[in-house]
Amino acid sequence: MKNDPMKKIADALLGAESIDIVTHIMMDGDAIGSAVALCLALRKEGKTANVIIEDSIAEYLQFLEYGCVTDVAEAEGSGDICVALDCGTKSRFPKRSDILDSAKLRICVDHHQTTEPIADLNYIEPESAATGELVYALIKEMGTEIDKDIASCIFAAIATDTGNFMYSNTTKRSHEVVIDLYDTGFDAYSVSVQLYENEPYRKIALHGDVVSRAERLADGKIIMAKVSRELLESHGADFEDTEGIVSILRSISGVEAAALVKEKKKDEIKVSLRSKEYVDVAKVASGFEGGGHKRAAGCTIRKDLDSAYEEIKTALVKETCRG
Ligand code: 5GP
Ligand code: MN
Repeated sequence: MKNDPMKKIADALLGAESIDIVTHIMMDGDAIGSAVALCLALRKEGKTANVIIEDSIAEYLQFLEYGCVTDVAEAEGSGDICVALDCGTKSRFPKRSDILDSAKLRICVDHHQTTEPIADLNYIEPESAATGELVYALIKEMGTEIDKDIASCIFAAIATDTGNFMYSNTTKRSHEVVIDLYDTGFDAYSVSVQLYENEPYRKIALHGDVVSRAERLADGKIIMAKVSRELLESHGADFEDTEGIVSILRSISGVEAAALVKEKKKDEIKVSLRSKEYVDVAKVASGFEGGGHKRAAGCTIRKDLDSAYEEIKTALVKETCRG
């Protein structure tokens, strides 16, 4: 698929009066950071702009709201334009897909490998480490001055999706964007502390517990763990508190592929997959109608926790031990 020029997207936004922005459920730093950065930039241009959400924002990301966020229940909808950011499948924003479809013009800006075009104007770049990089390019194209708040959001987006500039998706451009953000005088340290050193105790205790129960397979090349509702409750933890566990699993020496199988609700199992060098976890996820990137992907399985765990195990062993 050929991308529409960024200029065409920027011109469309500058020509509109009201813009709704949506992103995927279970927002990560890239989703909320990209969405709020664009919203703030559009407001600077005198637009009516809002980020519409349908689920809660994890505690550690709430500092990125900057007064931009409205719940779908209170949203007016049918803006001139609806922009979908960091998500290219409607199943990832089910309660807001009508908002996208009822807009006069639909725009999608995303960096997911498995994305099919869902909008009238699309800019999909899987080589980008974060949607935040693309939103940065879009704001530059609009000619809007990036201020400290916008810089904080874009920095949070890129920092979280690159694992603090460590993951294989990190490029020269990821760093170049951040170099430019520094010129706004934003406080990168303060954003980093809010993102990484502001964890509730229950979350860290849960992480330790889950990791200590993990199963190691294929001579330690694969590591898997599960999180039941019962385990969450025993720690007084929320589902969002599982964020980060899968990265810890992958960080272990000798591990190539990691899976965290989480019971979101009864018979609604969310799976997070990660790999280090060669296993294509997006391929594994796509076998369960999920998707993502080669080194980070996910899916939802509508079965009980133990069955979902076994199915993922079979698929991951097959993909990891091929040839
Ligand atoms: P996470 O494990 O952090 O939830 O997701 C890892 C990556 O996979 C993210 O880029 C995310 O957008 C993508 N991903 C997670 N779950 C799904 C899913 O159910 N469907 C699709 N298409 N992508 C997903
Ligand atoms: Mn992203």
